[in-house]
Amino acid sequence: MSDDAKKLRLFDTHCHFDFDVFAADFEHHLLVAREKGVERFVIPSIGAQNWQRAAQLAERFTSQIYYGLGIHPYFLQADSEKTLADLEQSLIHAGRECVAIGECGLDGVVDIPAPLQERILLAQFSLATQARLPLILHSRKTHDRLIYLLKQARFTYGGVLHGFSGSYQQARAFTDLGFKIGVGGVVTYTRAGKTRRAISQLPVESIVIETDAPDMPVCGFQGQPNHPGRLVEIFKALVSLKDMPALELSQQLWRNSCQLYGLDEERSAAGHEVKP
Ligand SMILES: [Zn+2]
Repeated sequence: MSDDAKKLRLFDTHCHFDFDVFAADFEHHLLVAREKGVERFVIPSIGAQNWQRAAQLAERFTSQIYYGLGIHPYFLQADSEKTLADLEQSLIHAGRECVAIGECGLDGVVDIPAPLQERILLAQFSLATQARLPLILHSRKTHDRLIYLLKQARFTYGGVLHGFSGSYQQARAFTDLGFKIGVGGVVTYTRAGKTRRAISQLPVESIVIETDAPDMPVCGFQGQPNHPGRLVEIFKALVSLKDMPALELSQQLWRNSCQLYGLDEERSAAGHEVKP
């Protein structure tokens, strides 16, 4: 990578950096990602089991790590109603590093009844509205239903459809509702023709990038846990797809990501304002 490219700053808008696979040597993993130019990270949560861990990392690494509070559709349990009440309490006490509700959404593949998934999701729409926070949405084979529910709920705080795969029309339905499209490792696979076409057609203002680490392996690294440092591979694939100068694209993505999560664009990693 050229010297110029090294100056790019990237924002991993969705990584599970709090998962056990990174825990033993967390600071090292953070450094590896930062050396690749990844300066900010949002850790979505999956359920009550990791709310505290995500919050602690954000407090420890101010202005680098932020987090979302939510309940992922994979991890719904019989006592999800109680978890919702706890989520409301956690939100009341959350600091300003909590920048979103999520990861929440619908999954058409997992063996959890759709009515339960939808009930918990709608409750999270309400909590996001109360807290005036954007949503981090998970959707697998449920894009159209999710659009329907968002419209019905008249949800207006936007957010991101993370790990997007689908058609241009589906992506536009989300961007029309004020959502960004989260582009992950899928863009590095040439066989993902439909999704790559959709992303190449989308206005660049609608796009943010993410690794979803340790999930969603990047092409060439299958079989290994994914890492936030590999965001740079996703970025490179997007540069060629968009046929845009890398620096310009990185600046636009940075702006989009900060706007998505309501963050100041010009705050240095050390937590100090950058002088104009
Ligand atoms: Zn995720």
